[in-house]
Amino acid sequence: MWRRKSRLSGAMSADGPFLMCPPRFYGVDYVINAWMDGNVGRADRGVAQRQWDKLHAALAARASIELVEPIATLPDMAFSANAGLVCHDLFIPARFRFVERQPEVAYYVEWARRRGLRVVDLPGEPTFEGEGDALFQPGEALLWGGYGVRTSLRAFEPLAEIVDAEIVPLRLVDERFYHLDTCFCPLPGGRLVYHPEAFDAASLATITARFAPSDRFEVGSHDALSFACNAICVGSTVITNFAGEALRRCLESWGFEALALPLDEFILAGGAAKCLALRLTNRPVALGRPQRTAGAGVREREIDIRGHLLDRGLMNQVLDEITRGGGSFEVEALQAGLRHDQTSTARVRVIAPSADSLDAVLGRLVQLGAHIADDKDARVEKVLQDGVAPEGFYGTTIFPTDVRLDGRWRRAGQQRMDATFVVDGESDATKVECRLIRELRAGERVVCGIEGIRVHRSKPGGAREAFRFMSATASSERRVELAVERIAWEMLRIRERGGRIVVVAGPVVVHTGGAPHLAKLIERGCVQALLGGNGLAAHDIEAAIFGTSLGIDLQRGIPIPGGHQHHLKAINRVRACGSIARAVEEGVVRAGILYECVRHGVPFALAGSIRDDGPLPDTLMDLIEAQRAYARLLAGAEMIVMLASMLHAIGVGNMTPAGVRLICVDISPAVVTKLADRGSLESTGIVTDVGLFLNLLEQATAEV
Ligand code: NAD
Repeated sequence: MWRRKSRLSGAMSADGPFLMCPPRFYGVDYVINAWMDGNVGRADRGVAQRQWDKLHAALAARASIELVEPIATLPDMAFSANAGLVCHDLFIPARFRFVERQPEVAYYVEWARRRGLRVVDLPGEPTFEGEGDALFQPGEALLWGGYGVRTSLRAFEPLAEIVDAEIVPLRLVDERFYHLDTCFCPLPGGRLVYHPEAFDAASLATITARFAPSDRFEVGSHDALSFACNAICVGSTVITNFAGEALRRCLESWGFEALALPLDEFILAGGAAKCLALRLTNRPVALGRPQRTAGAGVREREIDIRGHLLDRGLMNQVLDEITRGGGSFEVEALQAGLRHDQTSTARVRVIAPSADSLDAVLGRLVQLGAHIADDKDARVEKVLQDGVAPEGFYGTTIFPTDVRLDGRWRRAGQQRMDATFVVDGESDATKVECRLIRELRAGERVVCGIEGIRVHRSKPGGAREAFRFMSATASSERRVELAVERIAWEMLRIRERGGRIVVVAGPVVVHTGGAPHLAKLIERGCVQALLGGNGLAAHDIEAAIFGTSLGIDLQRGIPIPGGHQHHLKAINRVRACGSIARAVEEGVVRAGILYECVRHGVPFALAGSIRDDGPLPDTLMDLIEAQRAYARLLAGAEMIVMLASMLHAIGVGNMTPAGVRLICVDISPAVVTKLADRGSLESTGIVTDVGLFLNLLEQATAEV
């Protein structure tokens, strides 16, 4: 994986000439990077000139130097390395991101023409900041390209064609290291000096895959912020503003000598040694090694997205997702909804450093509701092994999703999260359905990739959505009573029309004294199914038989002697009866949540876990069977009330499509946020004690 070290003697010849620009008009006159901030007017031109003279002398002793005339109105022109890139006899001029530096380009182009270089402009409009963001690995047909702050990722594909070299893009993530040459210094002999913290994880992985540990030196923050990496290598000398002891020793071991020349007057503007000299002899060749294919591997695709892009922050999420994935973007069109209830649409060009990273980013964008602009049919692959999906399967979300097959969009059935899409039937009879991986059978056709997929995260406009939007919050501040009153009103309406309300509850419901209130709700017909675990039923039945929960007297809140065994005794008595229903029939259990379920024919499913005591005879210890039982009882639910059970609530959340009203009650804001923040508009999170909540809910359903 690591490149072979080239012989130092051959590689050491990458010397000048260099192009420099005297700092006669240098100063910090504006702020276009983090270093300039606070330094406007603070640079001393005399000191700068003396520092520059020393750098010039050191370079001139080792290579020839050419000069370009400075211009009075362009204080940054001294940083000649940013003006463009020279390769063979070509000059590729910079396209500066900031308007303040853009006029420099014309003077450098004029210089290049006079010198007999062929000026080749990058096609299109990507920003490109010259050698600041484009550094050749000496002696190789390899150009390192920095992007993410100044230079656009899109610059590298055409640049690779022009310089006929492989370009490896590296993403910069720290605004203080805004150019690649501030944190990355490739050296002859296949060596590198760099500051790892300036790069994203994917770029670091690229760097470490290409350089053996003994061929790269990691510069720490202190040295990097002293511009140690902003170095010029000429002959066997590495000229830099600063080199710490460890860096010096490493350079020595590689056969280089560090020459530190103070350039702090230029650091006020965010530049040092390397920024002040443009290398004029870049002749990329693969020293006896097979040349890699020219190209940067940069890929791009356009996506369309519609929804509450601005008021719900969806646009930010989309753009963040792209940059987090190592890509960059250009917003091609944005039509904003003008009213609160109107959606916005946008077309965004997504650019990524490789085909794989583009696929990964697009996959996440599709889940956010974006779809590929030039839609094709979805790709379908056959299942080869029972219970195993094809490698590139599309993983489903809770949101309604359309899949394009034979040029037609089809809405998937039985939408749920973390499943695959199975395509069944031919032409007009084609159906798409969600299927869990374990349920796949060999020969079934599964949707793969992200082409031809449309996820609907928001319904088109309308009053209902605007109304729901108000309730999609996880708020502990809003008065719990108000929220409860509203939930009670909704519950009674669902009951009235014969709808389904499913309650998911943990044993804390019993510990907090909430069981009698939940039992009352069941009695009143406000619960159509109950989902929980062994703990809920064990403690509920313990409370019914002994008046305790985990041995604590529920009336007085004090431990009962021997009470710690109550839950085991309760489980044991039910086991003797054979089932909870029989225990109710035989009068062993005479009150509580499960008692009311049995009495009113409300079905329940108790999913087992490794924590379970007993377990109760009804507890489903086969997890797959338990998941099926949950799914059966959840089918057709209009409202799901999740009460203090992270484990079961998260399981239920994953099985539930968007559009079902979710109420999540937990004392922990993190649990509520996780469940309520599904990006769907129908969830309400309430951070409170579940016993108190149930007490209020019972009263509210009685009063309304
Ligand atoms: P869990 O950790 O999944 O959920 C407990 C949740 O309750 C947490 O999110 C917590 O923040 C919340 N909570 C704590 N106090 C609260 C309060 N006063 N008000 C509101 N929320 C509060 O655990 P779980 O659901 O209790 O149990 C997970 C598994 O362990 C289940 O399978 C269960 O059956 C099993 N279990 C078995 C037994 C038993 O067999 N005796 C006993 C307990 C749990």
